Amino acid sequence: MSVQVVSAAATAKVPEVELKDLSPSEAERQLGLSTAAVGAMVPPAGGGDPEAPAPAAERPPAPGPGSGPMAALSPAAGKVPQASAMKRSDPHHQHQRHRDGGEALVSPDGTVTEAPRTVKKQIQFADQKQEFNKRPTKIGRRSLSRSISQSSTDSYSSAASYTDSSDDETSPRDKQQKNSKGSSDFCVKNIKQAEFGRREIEIAEQEMPALMALRKRAQGEKPLAGAKIVGCTHITAQTAVLMETLGALGAQCRWAACNIYSTLNEVAAALAESGFPVFAWKGESEDDFWWCIDRCVNVEGWQPNMILDDGGDLTHWIYKKYPNMFKKIKGIVEESVTGVHRLYQLSKAGKLCVPAMNVNDSVTKQKFDNLYCCRESILDGLKRTTDMMFGGKQVVVCGYGEVGKGCCAALKAMGSIVYVTEIDPICALQACMDGFRLVKLNEVIRQVDIVITCTGNKNVVTREHLDRMKNSCIVCNMGHSNTEIDVASLRTPELTWERVRSQVDHVIWPDGKRIVLLAEGRLLNLSCSTVPTFVLSITATTQALALIELYNAPEGRYKQDVYLLPKKMDEYVASLHLPTFDAHLTELTDEQAKYLGLNKNGPFKPNYYRY
Ligand code: NAD
Repeated sequence: MSVQVVSAAATAKVPEVELKDLSPSEAERQLGLSTAAVGAMVPPAGGGDPEAPAPAAERPPAPGPGSGPMAALSPAAGKVPQASAMKRSDPHHQHQRHRDGGEALVSPDGTVTEAPRTVKKQIQFADQKQEFNKRPTKIGRRSLSRSISQSSTDSYSSAASYTDSSDDETSPRDKQQKNSKGSSDFCVKNIKQAEFGRREIEIAEQEMPALMALRKRAQGEKPLAGAKIVGCTHITAQTAVLMETLGALGAQCRWAACNIYSTLNEVAAALAESGFPVFAWKGESEDDFWWCIDRCVNVEGWQPNMILDDGGDLTHWIYKKYPNMFKKIKGIVEESVTGVHRLYQLSKAGKLCVPAMNVNDSVTKQKFDNLYCCRESILDGLKRTTDMMFGGKQVVVCGYGEVGKGCCAALKAMGSIVYVTEIDPICALQACMDGFRLVKLNEVIRQVDIVITCTGNKNVVTREHLDRMKNSCIVCNMGHSNTEIDVASLRTPELTWERVRSQVDHVIWPDGKRIVLLAEGRLLNLSCSTVPTFVLSITATTQALALIELYNAPEGRYKQDVYLLPKKMDEYVASLHLPTFDAHLTELTDEQAKYLGLNKNGPFKPNYYRY
């Protein structure tokens, strides 16, 4: 019997979104690609050297020759495993949580449609920004109009920077710089910072085992040979490891930043020094932002054939300015919820003219980045900005999704008394059973020491809440955009703002009460701390595999639509990270595999499994 999932999402006036997995036959080919590589990477049950190929008897059946791009990463050949990536119309797929906060709705006939719940605002792009003649020359003169997509400005990083160049106010666009090989095809803050950046990249490499493994495995085969990738992501040491991996796999890359604040200048310099045309610096103006993107795509004698985007701005720019480029582009890989949503809109309108991979909704992104990244970085962000002690402090966390769960777990472990607010009874019940008191914000707002929002929603903390908070209450946000706390309501004449540290404001009431507002209500961890490289490694590996797959896919495998990577590839990404922990994965016996109806080499779970 089919089940109909009835939820508020069903009635919400939001664009209908359809997620497309690979059909079984496509998946079969594709899953076969990675199996041998998985087998080669994962230590055999009971341990062993992960780099050494497993003995034939222990090695999982390998795919047939020529079975696709990932074969390049595999030395073995053999039997193609059964596909198990399922179409969304599979009646077993009764409901699946969408990254945007919506649910897949299952009609009585088993048809599944996605109805995202929380994404209601139209994404805005700066179509009109096509001229670059009004640029400011100083970093300080920024025009932060809301025309850059949310992801571009709603998070920014002040992560560790080892070279302070704040005294150098010349715009990088006004500088004539060359790297040591004489190339000037880049625009970064200061090429002389390259050595510092190189050290940062080397540190990141230690925590990005899967990308390093991909580099080694693909040394001979170069699955991205001929690929011309234009990228627009945060430019950090972790991105640099990804870019250099793509380079090692044979790709040429040109890169801009997806966020005006998050570029690590030293890292951008190191990339430029090693020959990557990078156009990014920390503190770009809006005009700089689009100029940098344009410099990546508008080049004589070079046209991209792949896009790696985070937020959709680059994709949008090419659509608007250079639509003919799509004739040569083989695919788009998109990382963020915002960009993915935009792609689904294009797809629905019949305007998506190349295949796209939705990395955001991969299990290895959502269940790791959102949960573990936040579990590790919430304390870091709070500590760096406030030097506070967590033990015994009363904290309220708004939203008990992946991000909320991570924050609560970290704070509980430090001895904080944690309250949770939720709108969804399922997440609320999870919070209760994890030992947290479920409350309404009003019930605890007078007593708590810290308020953290992680709902992806808006106006969760209102001026009324802010008025009732006790003296010294710390207020911050871990959600994507700065809509969760009504910061605008604090910009009134009766309240005084005091900037006490970078990213730390005291907002003072007439009676002397002050609250501590972090990062002006923007994403705390990306603004005020670093995020764990190992988690980013998982996401970056997923991005690399998506690029390899789209670039090498035979004509017709992917249509002009948005796809999820099959679960088998998620499992592969996870397996590449297991050796770090000296983890010994149990292998199914033939008898057990038969009993469970599984292929011994995976995938091990149906698509609707929630982890
Ligand atoms: P999620 O959908 O799993 O969780 C959000 C939760 O908030 C849901 O359970 C929802 O029911 C609840 N919620 C919504 N409105 C609420 C309200 N008014 N009061 C209380 N609860 C409410 O999403 P997630 O993966 O946890 O992500 C949450 C946000 O964090 C998103 O904006 C996401 O983009 C962002 N994010 C941040 C980071 C980071 O590094 N800081 C990483 C990943 C995602």
